[in-house]
Order: sequence, then structure tokens, then C-alpha cells
Amino acid sequence: MTERLAVVGAGAAGAAATYALRDDPVEVTVFEKSRGVCGRAATRRKDDCVYEYGANYLKPGDDRVTDLVTEELSTDGLVDIAEPVYAFAADGDITPGRDADEHKWTYEAGITQLAKRLFGATDATVENEVRVEVLDRRADGWRVVDSEGTDRGDYDVVLLTPPAPQTADLLGQAAWDHDDCRALRQTVASVPYRTVVAGVLHYDFTLDVPWYGAVNADKAHDVGWVSREECKRGHVPDGESLLVVQMNESWSVANYDRRPETLVEAIAERAAALVGDDRLTDPDWTDYQHWRYSQPEGEVDHDALAGARDHDLYFAGDWVAGEGRIHAALRSGLDVAADIAGR
Ligand SMILES: Cc1cc2nc3c(=O)[nH]c(=O)nc-3n(C[C@H](O)[C@H](O)[C@H](O)COP(=O)(O)OP(=O)(O)OC[C@H]3O[C@@H](n4cnc5c(N)ncnc54)[C@H](O)[C@@H]3O)c2cc1C
Repeated sequence: MTERLAVVGAGAAGAAATYALRDDPVEVTVFEKSRGVCGRAATRRKDDCVYEYGANYLKPGDDRVTDLVTEELSTDGLVDIAEPVYAFAADGDITPGRDADEHKWTYEAGITQLAKRLFGATDATVENEVRVEVLDRRADGWRVVDSEGTDRGDYDVVLLTPPAPQTADLLGQAAWDHDDCRALRQTVASVPYRTVVAGVLHYDFTLDVPWYGAVNADKAHDVGWVSREECKRGHVPDGESLLVVQMNESWSVANYDRRPETLVEAIAERAAALVGDDRLTDPDWTDYQHWRYSQPEGEVDHDALAGARDHDLYFAGDWVAGEGRIHAALRSGLDVAADIAGR
């Protein structure tokens, strides 16, 4: 018998789960609140530039995921960033030494290709710009209702993949009269998240530095990460630079509500001081993003999550894997698909 599965979230985890179920008798409908797919592994375009303003790249942190990306999916346009990742501490001195990642993958057309290719290999229906708001427990399965109050249909199984705080909100709003629901919601809500404000700074000149990116190892600098999108093939026209600057947690929280103009100005000043190049205070265009729930920083109680399976409810995502990385989210999606297929 074909089961109907509703996947909430078209990020790496939702895409991997959908992909892994492509040959199973499961009819998958994916609901995604934003216009695109791939969630926090996010790409934008402007003035002939392509840039990742969330996750910077995928690393080979899991063999199954590496096989998926390098063998199962098309490798057309797959980019492996050659330049190294350097490190800096509170003093802002950028030095070699933190290039722990054997490969640093993205795609010429942007990292969102990952989810696009995974969904593209399936017959799943992906409904963009649909924010799921209420999960209504029925005798058999769940009814999904969106934020407009529209009934989005009945499903045998639901898979939730939003970041833990948003998943906890969905559990809080669920029409589900069950003793375990409250405890489950509290368990999910307890996963701590890092907040990151990111600035994107474009220049019509190139930078003469040997690194692709630099990470603040001691978390004592205002800047947490800086990288050059021009090191990713197909991202930035020759002769230009595009810096992605992710600020550390304390700076991001303190400046979260600042007006965009002064926010980006402050980020550019800090990037210029860090790289040691005054010209960087004056980008010719900028962009920014607030990531309230950037990456999980704690473990979730897996037993509590497993109990929900008896109620046709499953979870996946980086917070389920316990690591705020794309490969971990993908792996979590593949794993939950095996659980759903084996029901
Ligand atoms: C600034 C930043 C830098 C990072 N750098 C790296 C890096 O360099 N390398 C790396 O491996 N990882 C990095 N990460 C982490 C990586 O992006 C995540 O671990 C991974 O993308 C998580 O995937 P996911 O599917 O678990 O969640 P998400 O990508 O968050 O997907 C969940 C999806 O659910 C959707 N959603 C939420 N609520 C609803 C709702 N009610 N209805 C419908 N849809 C909903 C969201 O819009 C989203 O698309 C970074 C993240 C950030 C923010």
C-alpha cells in the first residue's frame, strides 16, 4: 500500500529523506515556507555574482553522503575549493593551520543545487511558500494546515525538518491531545542555537591573500569567519572580490536589531581591520542576513524523538544529528528515510 508522507522543510535533511524514499511506495509532498530549496545552505545572485550567505560549503564528513554527492548525483558543476582555510585568534593575525577539510564542495550554480538535484531525482511534489502551522492528529495519521488556514491534506506520516525551535513551535501548535506531546516539545525546544549575522561585501578589485577562508578559532574576535566567494568557480567575475563575513555569536546578538546600513558598515570595518586592507571599508554593494537559528550547539534526547514514531511522526535535521553541518543534515535525512521505509 502506498503511504502518504508530508515532509516539512526542503533543506538538506528534507531533500535527502525524499531522495532516499524515491523507489519506495511512498507518495511524498514537501512543504517549504520559502521560495527556494536547501534551507540554510542558501544561494543568492546579484550583478553576475553567485554567493552562499549561509553554509559556505559541504565537507566530506560522512562516507555515505560523500558517495551520494560524488557518485550518485551528477557532478556537473561541482566545485572543490582549492585555496585553504586559515585561522585567526583575538589578535586578528590570520595564519595557516586550520584547513582540516579534505574537500570543500559547492556547485558553480550555487550550493542550493544539492537539494535541487536530490528533489530532481524524485517524483515528489514540492510546495514552496507554504508555511505549515498546524498538525492536526487524526485517527490515522495527520492533517496538515498552513498559515493561511488552508487544509493541505491528510498524510499517514509526517517528517519535521525545521530547526529545533521551529519544530518545537509546530509541536506546540499541534492539535494533538497526547500526554507525550508537551514533553516532546520541551525536549526539542531545549536544543540551544547559535545566532549569526552575516555580511556580504562586494569590491571591484581583487585581494592578494593566499586563503579562501579564515576562521576565528578562539571565538574571541568580533568576526567568526571570513571567506572569498571568488575562490568558488563560477561565483564571481574576474577582477572582483566578494567577501562573506559571519560575525561571532556575542557580536551578532548585541547588534541583531541594528539598522542594516550601520550593521553592514560595522561589518565592513571589522573585515578591513582583520584582513589589513583599508579599501575593504568601502564595498560597492552589500547584502546581509540574520540567522537567528544558525547552527545547533547541543544534543537532543533521541529516545524522546523515537517515541513519536508510534504516532506517525518523525524528525530529521542537523539538530537531530547533533552537528550543525550540511553533511550531518543529509545523513539524518537518509537515516530517517530508512526508518520510515521500514515502518
Ligand atoms: C551562517 C551559517 C554558516 C554555515 N556554514 C556551514 C558550512 O560552512 N558547512 C556546513 O556543512 N554547514 C554550515 N552551516 C550549517 C548548515 O547550513 C546546516 O547544518 C544545514 O543546512 C541544515 O539543514 P537542515 O535540513 O537540517 O535544516 P534547514 O536547512 O534549516 O532546512 C529546514 C527548512 O525548513 C523550512 N521550514 C521551517 N519551518 C517551516 C514551516 N513551518 N513550514 C514549512 N517550512 C518550514 C525552512 O525554511 C528550511 O528551508 C552553516 C549555517 C549557517 C546559518
